[in-house]
Amino acid sequence: MIKKGVLTVISGFSGAGKGTLVKKLLADHEIFLSISCTTRAPRVGEVDGKDYYFVSRDEFERMIHEKELIEYAEYAGNYYGTPKKAIEDSLSEGKDVILEIEVQGGMQVKKLFPDAVLMFVVPPTANDLYDRLKNRGTESDEQIGIRFEQTVRETHFIKDYDYLIINDDLDKAAGQIVGIINSQHNLTDRQSEIIDDLAKDLVDLVKEKFS
Ligand code: 5GP
Repeated sequence: MIKKGVLTVISGFSGAGKGTLVKKLLADHEIFLSISCTTRAPRVGEVDGKDYYFVSRDEFERMIHEKELIEYAEYAGNYYGTPKKAIEDSLSEGKDVILEIEVQGGMQVKKLFPDAVLMFVVPPTANDLYDRLKNRGTESDEQIGIRFEQTVRETHFIKDYDYLIINDDLDKAAGQIVGIINSQHNLTDRQSEIIDDLAKDLVDLVKEKFS
C-alpha cells in the first residue's frame, strides 16, 4: 500500500523570501513543487515550464472552464493557478507536494484537501519586507505599492493557516518546514489502514496463541 504524500501550502508576503526558502527545500529534500500557470509576464531570467507556465488570459480562462486547475486566484492584476493533474498524480504516488501560492488559493486548497498543511511565511519585521522587495529590483515603485496593499489584506488570513514560519534565518525556517511535513506523516489520521491492520493482526495472534 502506498501512503499518500503530504500536501503543503506555503503562502506569505511578497518579498518574505518564500521563493528562496522553497528552493532550499527542493535542494535538500525529495519534494515535488507544483508549477503554476500565470498570465503575468515572465521576469528577466524566468523560464517557461520551470518557474511558471506563462499563458494568455484566454488560455487561463479555458483551463478554469475545463476544470484543469485545483485552485486559482487573481493577484495584482494577473491570474495564477495550480494545475490539477500533476498534483493528484504525485500525491497518489506517495510524493510530498508543495504549492507556493497566495492566500485565496490557500483557502481553496484547505477546503478541497482538509488534510493539507498550510504554512504562512513572514519576514521578522515590516521594514525587512520593504528592503527585500526594493532590493529585489524586479518591481517598479508602483508595483511594490500594489503588493504592499495586498500584503495588508493578507494579514487577515494568517490565522486560518496552520503554522507561522518566521524567515529570519533560511536554514532554520527550512528546517521548521521539513519538521512539520515529516510530522504529518505520523498523524494517526493518515495511518488508519496501518492501525486497522495492526489491530486485526493482534486479534488473530491472541486467538492463535491464547485461546
Ligand atoms: P509572483 O508574481 O511574485 O511570482 O507571485 C505572486 C503571488 O502569486 C505569490 O504570492 C505567489 O505565491 C502566488 N502564486 C503563484 N502561483 C500561484 C498559484 O498557482 N495559485 C495561487 N493562488 N497563487 C499563486
